[in-house]
Amino acid sequence: MNNQTPPQIGSPPDSVGTAFSRAVALKCPMCNDGNLFSGWLRMKSKCESCGFIFERDPGYFLGSTYINYGLTTLITTWTYIGLHFMAGIGKTWLIPGLATFCIIFPFVFFRYARSLWLCFDCYFDRTGALEMRQESGTKPDPETSREN
Ligand SMILES: [Zn+2]
Repeated sequence: MNNQTPPQIGSPPDSVGTAFSRAVALKCPMCNDGNLFSGWLRMKSKCESCGFIFERDPGYFLGSTYINYGLTTLITTWTYIGLHFMAGIGKTWLIPGLATFCIIFPFVFFRYARSLWLCFDCYFDRTGALEMRQESGTKPDPETSREN
């Protein structure tokens, strides 16, 4: 007898706010229950709660690098402009500091960039997300649903 709780069936985020809150919480965009990551940089292949497959296609998360790169560039540029031209801080201090920021920030923001990409993709492409849910199915994982 299988006494596990049945998998939850979620739906794609129905508003920008919902998509954003699920992304910031690093939760599954479909059920808002399962975690996206099992470690600092290790992403799960699918939701442990609803079975939604996170990486739809090979290279799916390439788009998240645009979010990460874009935000890093914006912060670096505006910080330089603000601190150099408005606060008068010299290049000898600014450039090493901002170069260090450009190396560290993408690692720190990596998980959020992927989560934002996934959640907003599910928001804007609801049909694709629902198809992916059906493909991944709510079938129980054979490893965890063995009969005792
Ligand atoms: Zn889920």
